Amino acid sequence: MSHPVSISIHGPVAVISMDKPPVNSLGAALRAGIADAMDQAQANAAVQAIVLTGTARAFSAGADVTEFGTPMAAREPNLRVVISLLEDSPKPVIGAISGQCLGGGLELAMGCHYRVALADATLGLPEVKLGLLPGAGGTQRLPRLLGLETALNMVVSGNPVAAAQVAGTPLVDKIIEGDLLQGALAFAHQVLEQKMPLRRSRDLKVKDAQGQAFLQFARNTVGAMSKNFPAPLRCLEAVAASVSKPFDEGVRLEREGFMALMASPESRALRHVFAAERAAAKIPGLAADTPLRTIAKVGVIGAGTMGGGITMNFLNAGVPVVLLEMKQEALDKGMATIRRNYENTMKKGKLKPEQVEQRMALLTGTLSYDAFADVDLVIEAVFENMEVKQTVFETLDRVCKPGAILASNTSYLNIDKIASFTKRPADVLGLHFFSPANVMRLLEVVRGAATAPDVLATSMAVAKKIKKIAIVSGVCDGFIGNRMLARYGAAASGLINAGALPQQIDGALQKFGMAMGPFRMGDLAGLDIGWATRKRKASEAGLPMTPVVADKLCEAGRFGQKTGAGWYRYEAGKRDPIPDAVTEALITEYRAANGIKARKISDAEVIERCIFALVNEGARILQEGIAARASDIDIAYLNGYGFPLHRGGPMLYADLAGLPNVVRALRRFAAEPGADASWQPAPLLLQLAADGKTFC
Ligand code: NAD
Repeated sequence: MSHPVSISIHGPVAVISMDKPPVNSLGAALRAGIADAMDQAQANAAVQAIVLTGTARAFSAGADVTEFGTPMAAREPNLRVVISLLEDSPKPVIGAISGQCLGGGLELAMGCHYRVALADATLGLPEVKLGLLPGAGGTQRLPRLLGLETALNMVVSGNPVAAAQVAGTPLVDKIIEGDLLQGALAFAHQVLEQKMPLRRSRDLKVKDAQGQAFLQFARNTVGAMSKNFPAPLRCLEAVAASVSKPFDEGVRLEREGFMALMASPESRALRHVFAAERAAAKIPGLAADTPLRTIAKVGVIGAGTMGGGITMNFLNAGVPVVLLEMKQEALDKGMATIRRNYENTMKKGKLKPEQVEQRMALLTGTLSYDAFADVDLVIEAVFENMEVKQTVFETLDRVCKPGAILASNTSYLNIDKIASFTKRPADVLGLHFFSPANVMRLLEVVRGAATAPDVLATSMAVAKKIKKIAIVSGVCDGFIGNRMLARYGAAASGLINAGALPQQIDGALQKFGMAMGPFRMGDLAGLDIGWATRKRKASEAGLPMTPVVADKLCEAGRFGQKTGAGWYRYEAGKRDPIPDAVTEALITEYRAANGIKARKISDAEVIERCIFALVNEGARILQEGIAARASDIDIAYLNGYGFPLHRGGPMLYADLAGLPNVVRALRRFAAEPGADASWQPAPLLLQLAADGKTFC
């Protein structure tokens, strides 16, 4: 690897250039390189001023996250030392900024005595987004350079600003038009000619007359907005210290906060998710340069709940869609729902009237498959029934052009079987969206046994284009997400049988952080769906159905919100779940019929059973290769199932709980009389626990 830092002499000015692709992350080698170059510049008597610069893409995008938690992160010189070398330099140092100047990169730049930048360079301290705070003086220097309010907003939100927005403040002394290096050299000459002072940001006073009042207001707001995350308030307190404390004392407090946050489970979770999202795009066995098919026009079949939402994703991305239904009435209804959704967004001020029309103009409704002759991708979202899917895919095989990708949005059905209805199984895969499909970020891409690599790669690219986070799943009943959900639901249902009520279980899981408990979710999705699935599975297995309380609810016509009652009852036009005596009576009846004596169940037991049920099935899914990595499972649960972000997903949760502890709990459940075999700890989980390893 070429040296990441070079030095060149331009008359009286030394230019230190950082060039470590892709974004000058401040790993050990880059830090050492800057320190060496500074030493050289100081030792050279001809040098009177120093310019520190990066590449067009980045001055520096900050710490090297791959070094977090490794000895390299602590290797000297650390970033604070390097920043001091700049700030304490007896020769003026000018930062010349283009591209990203973020996190440790901005902290480095703030160590310079002056800064010049291209107008579109982005400056920010995004550490809070990883549950951290800037740990190299950023919380103390930024308010000194930018004033309290703007600095606090930047540190607490983590959002960057363009250099042009802060031009004229001591953070950006000058915006350079044209060539950055020439501009920086000219500025350095000006500093020398005008004998401008060595302006150290640490020596400046924070400007803000209303400091304490503003801080109190900010504490209230930030506290209310960040309840599961400690970082924003810690950031705020560190910035507050810049107003009331000497610089060194502020830096000490910042350091303490940084160390505490680095050790917090919330930051662990956010850093895990950051890495997991990047990892999800890498598919084992699929070359990064796999050629992509062009997707210029999309067909969607079924204008119901899912088909409508799926269609909107493509219209939003500017891709024309042909939407097919069986009957004019269903088509009209589906098209009207799409328009109404857009108009509601418009009423909230988030879309302009002309944008609504632009999107609707990309949509064509049809009752005929002839309109599918030229589509590049079809997504089927018809009833969840294999015979219906068979007819649809046989037809698609006849009408679609060669090379068109044929996808099913099925929640559970076998993609390989669906592919077998065509003479082109290599072009078939599952694209499993989540409801509401225009809102939920998750897309499960289901890879069939025959799915071609370029079909998979193209689908991942399509996901990105429509702003989804995609994970790849193998074929199994329910794929990654719903297969795990079935165990979670069974655990919750077992707790009902044993003595809990829906409201207690939902309450405990919502306190844990789940967006919605399983019974509220069941009522929202419709209990008839699970009922149909249970009937199908029983008939496929050739076994009689083992009745559960949910079946009794369905037999009584209680399908959830849509029928005004399910596990809960609902007042007309409202969505608030009201605990219902009818449900309680059905549960009591069920227990009596099965000889179950209700026992008291703690909230802790609810969490343990429901979450560890997810984890155990997740381990099986990993072992079978249905998921390529544990972090893909976490991405699915965080983005498709309302799992709390601050816990990082079920698999990371298990890691942090300690896999031997998870195993012990599962063994306890498996040993209970009549326990379902699925409580047996998965072999992979046993292995990892025994080896002292983790999922993530
Ligand atoms: P839905 O009943 O709301 O919509 C299905 C639509 O398909 C209806 O409008 C129906 O008229 C139409 N249709 C049925 N057969 C057709 C045919 N042969 N040709 C053209 N149109 C036809 O159902 P949904 O909830 O949108 O589910 C659709 C699919 O998506 C199912 O496979 C389901 O498992 C899956 N899915 C549903 C959800 C969810 O939460 N609802 C989530 C993920 C996946």
